[in-house]
Amino acid sequence: MKKKINQVAKLLFESNYAVVMTGAGMSVESGIPPFRGTTGIWTKYGQPKMDSFSDFKKNPTKWWDDRRNLTIDKHIMELRESLKNAKPHLGHYSLCKLEKNKYIKSIITQNIDGLDLMAGSKNVIEIHGNRKRLRCLSCNKRINLGEYLPVYAPEPCEICGGTVKFDTVLFGEPIPKDIMEKSRQEIDKSDLIIAVGTSATVRPASGLFWIAKSQGTQIIEVNIEKTKLTTISDFFISSKAKSFFVDLENELFANSNH
Ligand SMILES: [Zn+2]
Repeated sequence: MKKKINQVAKLLFESNYAVVMTGAGMSVESGIPPFRGTTGIWTKYGQPKMDSFSDFKKNPTKWWDDRRNLTIDKHIMELRESLKNAKPHLGHYSLCKLEKNKYIKSIITQNIDGLDLMAGSKNVIEIHGNRKRLRCLSCNKRINLGEYLPVYAPEPCEICGGTVKFDTVLFGEPIPKDIMEKSRQEIDKSDLIIAVGTSATVRPASGLFWIAKSQGTQIIEVNIEKTKLTTISDFFISSKAKSFFVDLENELFANSNH
């Protein structure tokens, strides 16, 4: 393991533009259950309807009413409960330090918990949105919510009058255009991607890996077990997210004065 971390550190040193991409595996160690896999909430409660965005668009007011009346899926209840008290773990702080010291340029995450921002990371692209924000469907204006999460349908957008919803991307909802463009720009600039805790099965986020690969970007994969991504990874490390980032931080900073 030590040797593998040393190799990752070497690849980071040699890279010009390294991007970290994280998935559910990064949040699990902060107590947020994944959707898939043996401990996944879909495995426990069954897979939810895959067209929640069309439900929302048909009748946004009813969508909000259903949530308030607790007639929503059990898996959402459990997820909501776990998100309430979630705090960044040591791996999030190590990742933040990597960015601060310019080893990596950006973080593209599929997680909606905002833990990277909470840990202090700056250039974070939340591809599936952030649960503590609202977003206008027409002009993409975001509104930060802080601790207060609304239970009634918000007023229309004050800029364009568009429908406002939670920033988190629902099933069947396209990734907001600005976020997709930003992610793509990062991928185009990258020459190294470190993928952590993501099995690369959720599109279109997962497609970014294949685009990167086709452009000659090296991919380091960090997962507990091999995944679909392993077929195109240049380097596979079997590890949980937290210990990987902590070990990498130790490797990078052990002999320096940072
Ligand atoms: Zn708007």
